[in-house]
Amino acid sequence: MADPRIFLASHNAKKVEEMQRIIAEHLPGIEVVGADAMPAYAEPVEDQPTFAGNALLKARAGLAATGLPTVADDSGLCVDALNGMPGVLSARWSGPPKSDDRNNELLLAQLSDVPDHRRGAHFTCAVALCLPDQSQDVVEGRMYGRITRAPRGSGGFGYDVVFVAEEHDDSGITTAELDPEEKDRLSHRGRALRELAPRLARRLGGE
Ligand code: IMP
Repeated sequence: MADPRIFLASHNAKKVEEMQRIIAEHLPGIEVVGADAMPAYAEPVEDQPTFAGNALLKARAGLAATGLPTVADDSGLCVDALNGMPGVLSARWSGPPKSDDRNNELLLAQLSDVPDHRRGAHFTCAVALCLPDQSQDVVEGRMYGRITRAPRGSGGFGYDVVFVAEEHDDSGITTAELDPEEKDRLSHRGRALRELAPRLARRLGGE
């Protein structure tokens, strides 16, 4: 392959690092370049009703702007008692300006009357891959668990302070209390990226 780079259409440095770590296991020598390291381009409005739709929008725009094989993700929290909301609206659930603290307060208020056995939820992450030959692929990963009654922990981001993964149900520790490697192992994003990485390796290897 002439250009040993893939573009990750995201300004989130943590995602770029995570992607680089996972890609390196399958494709040593490939560099993952984030949006902050590339010239600015018109990024699409994420107006699709599904995670996969939004991930594809972002990946297509990234490929068009850079000409590089492009990966993009879209993710959010789906709460059973709210019929799967906030879903694709997760980042802006409590309205502008975006605030994790206000989103968590609103979610806990909406669930205040919901008993413990009905507080199930999952995170979903869709990761889309778009290649210069115009082929595309999307994979999804999920992390199942439940919503707590109060925020706890200082790691992670977003709804991590109110989410307990099913693997930690007994201890009740939130995903904001996990070390980053354990969160990568369980997370929707880690699962989706680990599924995509070998496919990406095959595609870039010309198979
Ligand atoms: P994005 O796909 O990174 O834009 O994430 C959308 C929103 O979903 C974030 O702003 C968070 O509110 C929520 N979210 C996605 N993934 C996670 C996670 O791993 N932990 C906590 N919140 C998350």
